[in-house]
Amino acid sequence: MSKRILVTGGAGFLGSHLCERLLAEGHDVVCLDNLFTSQKLNIEHMLGQPHFEFVRHDVTESFKFEVDEIYNLACPAAPGHYQHNPIKTLKTSVMGTMHALGLAKRLGAKVLQASTSEVYGDPDVHPQPEDYRGNVNAIGPRSCYDEGKRAAETLMFDYWRVNKVRIKVVRIFNTYGPRMHPFDGRVVSNFIRQAIRGEPLTLYGDGMQTRSFCYVDDLVDGLIRVMATEDDFTGPVNLGNPEEFTIRELAERVVKAVGGSARIEQARPLPQDDPAQRCPDIRLAKRVLGWEPRVKLAEGLPRTVEWFKSVDMTQFRAPTPNY
Ligand code: NAD
Ligand code: UDP
Repeated sequence: MSKRILVTGGAGFLGSHLCERLLAEGHDVVCLDNLFTSQKLNIEHMLGQPHFEFVRHDVTESFKFEVDEIYNLACPAAPGHYQHNPIKTLKTSVMGTMHALGLAKRLGAKVLQASTSEVYGDPDVHPQPEDYRGNVNAIGPRSCYDEGKRAAETLMFDYWRVNKVRIKVVRIFNTYGPRMHPFDGRVVSNFIRQAIRGEPLTLYGDGMQTRSFCYVDDLVDGLIRVMATEDDFTGPVNLGNPEEFTIRELAERVVKAVGGSARIEQARPLPQDDPAQRCPDIRLAKRVLGWEPRVKLAEGLPRTVEWFKSVDMTQFRAPTPNY
């Protein structure tokens, strides 16, 4: 059945793919975004479609739409972006989630919160299951994002306990693919951009820290499955690809996928509070959603490289300072 669906942060990397999938499934999609870390370019191809509507709005201000479901994705996600204006980042997570919840409460709508593996901080349990409570610094450079997302989870569960709002909390692990902002400072976008331009790939630290990379199509599929669960399933549930790589291995794979001969260099020390390892335990997602990622890095990287080669990177606004 066709539903009316609001996607906050819908013009962003994940949001634009989600809007596309929801439209293809026959839903009516409202994409709300202030374009802080994204470009209209991401949603240009949907703008003329009768079931797609773009609203330029900031989620720190309240919003009202008559919808059945809300995906709350609005929040800068790359460290360079969320540290650009840390106070705004925290406000976006907390106030944006409060506004989404207030709306869901009035409408009886389901609301899904895009949380993050960052709620586990620099984990001392590996891989990270949902019942691990994390090792998070409350006062460091990553805290505006980590604590904002943790507070957003708290709000979700309090609205569920107190007001019976139909909530879904998803903890997303590192995801990559076409439409990542080429200058967002994240490792996949940095390495691909650098390799295409023949510049050295910038390893932070010795490159032995690990991450697990999920292709965007798998992630979007997971989000839609979570939204479709019965009301008694609230999450939190991890979504990510448990194939784990060191950042140095990732650099080597990017150089191979791009096909050049770019060098890999140790560019700077590891940033403060940069997690040493990260890998999702996805047993809950497998059991409840019947979900697991299908696209391996070996397939997803070339697809992403192809997209980066096809776009005019100068059309994306300049990088925000990183540290
Ligand atoms: P993104 O930066 O491409 O998308 C975020 C979108 O939110 C952008 O379009 C941005 O303009 C919008 N936005 C930011 N602040 C806003 C505000 N105050 N009002 C309205 N819109 C605002 O990042 P993404 O990778 O697509 O991430 C989407 C969501 O998923 C975020 O909430 C992020 O925290 C979460 N997430 C992403 C990853 C990942 O690896 N991509 C991992 C964990 C969690
Ligand atoms: N990183 C790196 N070189 C870069 C960008 C990032 O070595 O040019 C490292 C970064 O220090 C971190 C990992 O890659 O250990 C992932 O960084 P990203 O910013 O993509 O995401 P997050 O740290 O939030 O997982």
